[in-house]
Amino acid sequence: MSVTQQTHPTTESVNGDLYWIDQYEPITETDTELHEIITSSELPVLLASLAAALQDSSILSDELRPPLPPMGAYLKPHGGMDDTQQEKAAEVALQALKRLRDERIDRVDVLPQDLVDEILDWFTDGRTRDPSWAGQLKHELDLAPDKNGSPRWSYEDYAGEKPFETLVVGAGISGLAAAWRLKEAGLPFTWIEASHRLGGTWWKNHYPGVRLDTPTYGYSFSFAQRTDWPHQFAKGEEVLDYLETVAEHAGFTDESIELNTRLVRAVFDEETGTWTATTATAEGEQTRRFNAVIMGVGQLDNPHIPSWEGQESFQGAQMHSQEWDHSVPLEGKKVAVIGTGASAYQIVPAIAEKVDKLYVFQRSAPWMLPAPTYHEPMSPAADWLHRKVPHYGHWFRLWVTTGGIDGRIHIARAEEGWEGAPHSVSAANEEFRQEIIARYQEQYEGREDLLKVAVPTYPPSAKRLLRDNGVWAKALRSPRTRVVTEGLSSFVPHGLVTGGGETLDVDVVIYATGFRPSDYLDPIKVVGRGGLEIHDYWGGDAKAFAGITVPNFPNLFMLLGPNTGGVVAGGLHFMIERAAEYAVEAIHQLLKRDAKALDLTQQALDRFCEWVDAENRQMTWGQPYVNTWYQNRFGRVSQVWPFRTTEYWRITEGIIEDDYEFLT
Ligand code: NAP
Repeated sequence: MSVTQQTHPTTESVNGDLYWIDQYEPITETDTELHEIITSSELPVLLASLAAALQDSSILSDELRPPLPPMGAYLKPHGGMDDTQQEKAAEVALQALKRLRDERIDRVDVLPQDLVDEILDWFTDGRTRDPSWAGQLKHELDLAPDKNGSPRWSYEDYAGEKPFETLVVGAGISGLAAAWRLKEAGLPFTWIEASHRLGGTWWKNHYPGVRLDTPTYGYSFSFAQRTDWPHQFAKGEEVLDYLETVAEHAGFTDESIELNTRLVRAVFDEETGTWTATTATAEGEQTRRFNAVIMGVGQLDNPHIPSWEGQESFQGAQMHSQEWDHSVPLEGKKVAVIGTGASAYQIVPAIAEKVDKLYVFQRSAPWMLPAPTYHEPMSPAADWLHRKVPHYGHWFRLWVTTGGIDGRIHIARAEEGWEGAPHSVSAANEEFRQEIIARYQEQYEGREDLLKVAVPTYPPSAKRLLRDNGVWAKALRSPRTRVVTEGLSSFVPHGLVTGGGETLDVDVVIYATGFRPSDYLDPIKVVGRGGLEIHDYWGGDAKAFAGITVPNFPNLFMLLGPNTGGVVAGGLHFMIERAAEYAVEAIHQLLKRDAKALDLTQQALDRFCEWVDAENRQMTWGQPYVNTWYQNRFGRVSQVWPFRTTEYWRITEGIIEDDYEFLT
């Protein structure tokens, strides 16, 4: 049973975790100190990790099962355990921690399957009896023998006779996931990145205040589970550092990636079943052939900067949130931030006290989830638990994943016959709305003017839900800040003219106006079978099976492609990893069948889109009166995944033969 692991292993690691800790620190604390620590733990996580460490599931009694009530505005601590359960759980945890200390247990390896099944059943209150839940959670848990998305085959089995080279485009989260899975399978690949470094969104976005807007523990690869995160919501530089460290642990160096190399064009050749890729660097263009192309070019990468009359005449500085220029001084300046979305809500509080005057141009107010600990570090108790209880961090990550599977879908789904539109779509949505409004009422007490504009006029969750620890309201209440809701009419050389005709003196304009997420694969030219160009095929309405494959474009795989963004449930890394694993499995199927390429049928895509579209139409963001970046210019929701991630697990579990034409 015992499988020895190395700290910071590379490909030799048996279960592929690039952050594996072989040995934990010994517990030396007294009973009283242990009791103190338990009071700051998340009890179901602690009990599950102790059951795993002691290999004793008897501590997970039925009476202590966390009930896991649906997630509302707040996440219920301890999975909603009541006071009696919490008291008993704390006592059981104390006895178990004492055993861990006294028996000097400082490591856990891969667990027996039946123990994993028992713990997961308890941990999820029976949800893992559904195979999609079990499959997904074992994928996410490092300790299950069959957890992993790692390929269970090797290219070596086919090498020699069947040369197969893949092009991976992009070195952000997606490219890294693809490169790792290809490497695990032993498949040769060429990896290019248009910019000068790895990290994608997390090196490009370095605006003041940038940090995660989802819990840190939900924002990592299943195969690289960092457990010593400094903050509950990691700062941008911490996420970038994580990605660089994952690459390092994976054995990727700067030499593994062709940096400053942009894919310009990819053309499929039916005769050979290969892609001819034209890449460009400062030195010029190069043309190479590949058997497959994996696109990891990101979804929120192309800045959207709207046009206004007179914009070119503006004499001050202007920058998009993703193209922040730190050499532009803000101290003592008159600054306008256009937009109040996920970027703006981090920028505005970070600069509000530096500037002389801040104009926040708001077209729609944001809904914000209460997150009192948004800027807080991990607690000392959490740090202790991660260092001393084997894999507490892994179980904590799984806990976050588990909660995220249902997430807030129940709040976002419209109820038949509900009459609260356009403010809400269901009783649950309305209840959630009222809870947030009550919070806003407290935050803007004495400022009726701000309260009036702070409450959005669309249902909560129709746009990205932001995190609120009070700093946004504080920034808006500042005497230096003015929220401009009359709109922006035009630019003049030294300012902006509001929709009401007032001219505001402005030195710096910050466009927090978002991205062009529905322009998938823009500006790459991708020519498939019969000379069909992918953007012509899509006609502005990008579609792909599971966000991954597109008819007429054989052996082309997209990661974080159309309709795969999770917004009220699920995690980004899970969607990306699954797509990468699907691509690698597709390559496996080709090698096995001695086929050159596989091409999705139009029927398979139509069936998928019908299913996803029907569900998206039921969601807040699919309502006809809602305007959100989740929709494309036709009003079709082309960015977002409306189901649980367990559904994504199900549809990416294997390559369904009938869905593809195999080219031989
Ligand atoms: P966004 O959410 O699309 O917000 C853009 C803002 O600009 C909105 O308030 C929008 O108003 C406004 N806007 C757009 N065009 C305008 C115009 N012509 N006139 C006036 N206002 C205009 O963009 P974002 O804030 O960059 O965030 C995009 C996504 O990136 C997020 O949803 C999230 O997924 C991701 N993100 C994540 C993080 C994080 O994890 N920390 C941080 C930033 C971004 P309307 O709402 O009325 O359209």
